[in-house]
Amino acid sequence: MQVAEGVFRLGHPLVNWYAVVDGGRVTLIDSGLTGDASHIVDDLASVGIAPNQVEAVVLTHGHSDHFGGAEEVRTTAGAHVHVHNADAAYVRGKPPLQNLVRAPRLLRHASREFLGTMRFFISHGLLRPTAVKVVDEFDDGAILPVPGAPRVVHVPGHTAGSSALFLASRGVAFTGDALVTLDCYSGRTGPRLLARESNDDNAAALASLETLAGLKARVVLPGHGDPFNGEIRDAVAAAKAAGAA
Ligand SMILES: [Zn+2]
Ligand SMILES: [Zn+2]
Repeated sequence: MQVAEGVFRLGHPLVNWYAVVDGGRVTLIDSGLTGDASHIVDDLASVGIAPNQVEAVVLTHGHSDHFGGAEEVRTTAGAHVHVHNADAAYVRGKPPLQNLVRAPRLLRHASREFLGTMRFFISHGLLRPTAVKVVDEFDDGAILPVPGAPRVVHVPGHTAGSSALFLASRGVAFTGDALVTLDCYSGRTGPRLLARESNDDNAAALASLETLAGLKARVVLPGHGDPFNGEIRDAVAAAKAAGAA
């Protein structure tokens, strides 16, 4: 479960969240689905982390499969929850209108994988997200004052506020849903964008891949799918090739 220096992958095969350990202090990158909140403390214990070590939850974006446990961690551990200002309203409980338009279009992917994913997401609370009552907003380029000191790299497209979090000293990039290795809508694996119907702006998502390619990251940790161990520019090249296929 340790996927990089002081970084643990948690969650389940369909959705990732991560713990970054910095001395005895911890930052969570994302926090799973609403249905995961009840066992988030046990999940942390499985890698030797006590709730009171968690000082912050940093969200890659404002979708409910990524902020589900954030309010639980905020209220039980006193952690601060951080998200890009363009996605903050979603996390505070105002779901994006695009979801209404997008849901029927996603039905195009009526594959076994898609239906299995949807059944799993919905049974884990996708449609009844727990709003986060207090949110700290960040913007592009900020070095967050939290354990691990991740740098915000704004990569809009999947959502307007999608952000990668870059740990420069460890060469680790958390890419959220801006670059994944599992498209849970089609079941396809390997570096790629998520299905275009799940992106607010697919052209922007493609352009943001260039921003990611410029990072000096050797471990890429996505919101969905396995770690990519290698230069992020190679993951970007593979994602672009997959997109064109
Ligand atoms: Zn998402
Ligand atoms: Zn997601």
